[in-house]
Amino acid sequence: MAESRPVLDIVAPFFNEAQSASAFAALLDKLEAAVAQRFGMEVHKILVDDGSRDDGAERFSRALSGSWEIVRLSRNFGKEVAVLAGLDQSRGDMALIMDADLQHSMDTSLKMIAELVEHPDIDVVYAQNDRREASWRRSQLARLFYSLINSSQRFDIPENAGDFRVMRGAVVRALTSLRDKRRFNKGLFAWAGFRQKAIEYSPENRVTGTSKWSRLNLIAFSLEGFTSFSVIPLRIISLSGMLAAMAGLVYGAKVFFEVMFYGIAVPGYPSLMVAVVLLGGLNLTLLGLIGEYVWVTLSESKDRPVYIVRDVLRGNVSDRPPGVSET
Ligand code: UDP
Ligand code: MG
Repeated sequence: MAESRPVLDIVAPFFNEAQSASAFAALLDKLEAAVAQRFGMEVHKILVDDGSRDDGAERFSRALSGSWEIVRLSRNFGKEVAVLAGLDQSRGDMALIMDADLQHSMDTSLKMIAELVEHPDIDVVYAQNDRREASWRRSQLARLFYSLINSSQRFDIPENAGDFRVMRGAVVRALTSLRDKRRFNKGLFAWAGFRQKAIEYSPENRVTGTSKWSRLNLIAFSLEGFTSFSVIPLRIISLSGMLAAMAGLVYGAKVFFEVMFYGIAVPGYPSLMVAVVLLGGLNLTLLGLIGEYVWVTLSESKDRPVYIVRDVLRGNVSDRPPGVSET
């Protein structure tokens, strides 16, 4: 080969984003031109259709230009897994992960790429949401979540940083070597280490479609983060269980003492209720938490593949056969 320019892979998962297909393809074109002009890099686009139920993949395949592929998963696996499916296809020198819903801007992407190009000592640049739009309650909740999850680890999961990031090929290979089935990318990014740098950004408003995260989803996702990256909840519960048991013991001794030596009648109903409710609650919580960890262990031990590819659509990739190929 005469020229071998460094390659930037753009990885973008999408799920029911048909409405933003042409706009996102246009954004990618602009980004590709800017990347070529400013950094002399080639761009390869890797989109992952995370089991969309609309005709997004077809629309993307018509709208995309340059070198691209669309990995179509056999069903909806969730964004975390879709990102892995995209990274698995990445062979470039750098990879940029971004959303296909136009919330991640070209400006921030270019800024992150520039950081990586200009600073050889940095391996990852991630975009940190400045959370201008978030409510106070929500940001306090987020803060609590991160301080809890970060309280017992050798690595810190940065606040408000998601998948929107650029990394070197070595980091991509490290990440794809982590085959967790129940994935919590923020945790995996942090676990993998490397020298990371944050830049601030505020996400664009969603122009079309809706966010795929419901409140319930977010809670479930936080639990996933906890159970796959922290034993803290288990410890808190076991500790409070122990404290409650000790308090019960002391109270029991007091009652016993009073009955034996002073003949004071035991206030039966209230004390019973307190004990039952307290211990019952603790028991249930602990059981639930243990269940969470067992569930994680179970899903890991099943050793299924993390995702299944239905097929891959390709365009203009010189070293690979064009058109649809079954995998
Ligand atoms: N997404 C996905 N699979 C899902 C849910 C979402 O691939 O199961 C994609 C979605 O199409 C978008 C990105 O992940 O490109 C971010 O999703 P969303 O906008 O719902 O999340 P938010 O921006 O609200 O964090
Ligand atoms: Mg979004």
